[in-house]
Amino acid sequence: MVASERSQCNFTKCGRGASHRRGGGVSSPGPMPLRNDRYGRPLRNLRLSVTDRCNLRCSYCMPEAEYVWLPQSDVLRFEEIERLVRIFAHLGVDKVRLTGGEPLLRRDLEVLVAMIARVPGIRELAMTTNGVLLADKAAELRRAGLQRMTVSLDTLDAATFRLLTRRDNLAAVIAGIDAARAHFTDVKLDTVAIAGVNDRELPDLLAFARDRGAEIRFIEYMDVGGATQWRPDAVVSRARILELIAARFGSASPMPRDSAPAERFRLADGTTFGIIASVTTPFCATCDRARLTADGQWFRCLYATAGTDLRALLRSDADDAAIAAVIAEAWHQRTDRGAEVRARTPDRRPLVGAAELQKAPHLEMHTRGG
Ligand code: SAM
Ligand code: SF4
Ligand code: SF4
Repeated sequence: MVASERSQCNFTKCGRGASHRRGGGVSSPGPMPLRNDRYGRPLRNLRLSVTDRCNLRCSYCMPEAEYVWLPQSDVLRFEEIERLVRIFAHLGVDKVRLTGGEPLLRRDLEVLVAMIARVPGIRELAMTTNGVLLADKAAELRRAGLQRMTVSLDTLDAATFRLLTRRDNLAAVIAGIDAARAHFTDVKLDTVAIAGVNDRELPDLLAFARDRGAEIRFIEYMDVGGATQWRPDAVVSRARILELIAARFGSASPMPRDSAPAERFRLADGTTFGIIASVTTPFCATCDRARLTADGQWFRCLYATAGTDLRALLRSDADDAAIAAVIAEAWHQRTDRGAEVRARTPDRRPLVGAAELQKAPHLEMHTRGG
């Protein structure tokens, strides 16, 4: 789907298009200009969790035996998600990333992709997936208008994969990566680096990505909600990642930084890779991201303990302008710098314990979307 094929913005009295209505056709008084947050950061990037369910149990995300799931009746319907995306796009969001839980577990996801791809103003539509179900889905997701694909891959070793995920799906993930490469020009691999588990493998993973024509990003293990096994000494720091890469490939040169969370580096042979150093080098100062859970809770930081209940607004008689006003005001009041606060925390331990997560599943990474 190219921008010129997309329909016009239909927010009432918006200069960019015709009337922007809620499902029942109630008109709204007009768009709200979105002001930057308290630290001057704009809202550009929306990460949309389409389900809290997952078919893996990664030790850094879902290590527990039991989880409390969102009630199905609370999960937003595609029409509700599309309506919110239109409102966010009207307020300046131009990048959407579908995530989860595992987004490919959401039935008919390509239908949602096509709906979002048509929203005026959305320039980038991407997905982060664990890849297990991707081989059968890549072609139709691309046809529906998905532009970028990120697949999580932490190991190339079947036994380590089993240890990390409690499942036996490494071959399916690799088939998913190959399918992604066949249908997408922009494929990235995300690797959470964990000391003593996959750190020795990072150069092999980089070589694997290079041979597949994908860019790999190494992610420092974060103490987010859900990471109940997190320990400071399990984090492989940005500096250590660069050392491990240099030992195999020679030193890497930093590339100019853009607004993405990853710092990018180039090897002598031209191969590029990224590091997302949220633990040792937080990038909150430029953070333009917010997250929407599958049940419509809107969080303005990965570490935020409270969000805004947009589902309640969607299911009330609030029109689009009223919802936009709530979003605009909440963003303007935003002061979150969660990773920086965590970096200053003495005697750092997991952010939330397992018992608290049972009572507050919205704190989970797999619920709010990574
Ligand atoms: N299930 C999909 C997947 O794994 O790609 C999408 C959702 S997952 C929550 C999104 C990203 O969050 C993944 O790349 C995952 O590796 C990352 N993630 C989860 N827990 C993390 C943690 N404790 N530290 C760093 N990254 C984490
Ligand atoms: Fe792993 Fe993603 Fe599932 Fe979390 S949501 S357990 S990171 S596959
Ligand atoms: Fe943004 Fe919060 Fe992550 Fe900082 S910790 S980069 S403010 S989401």
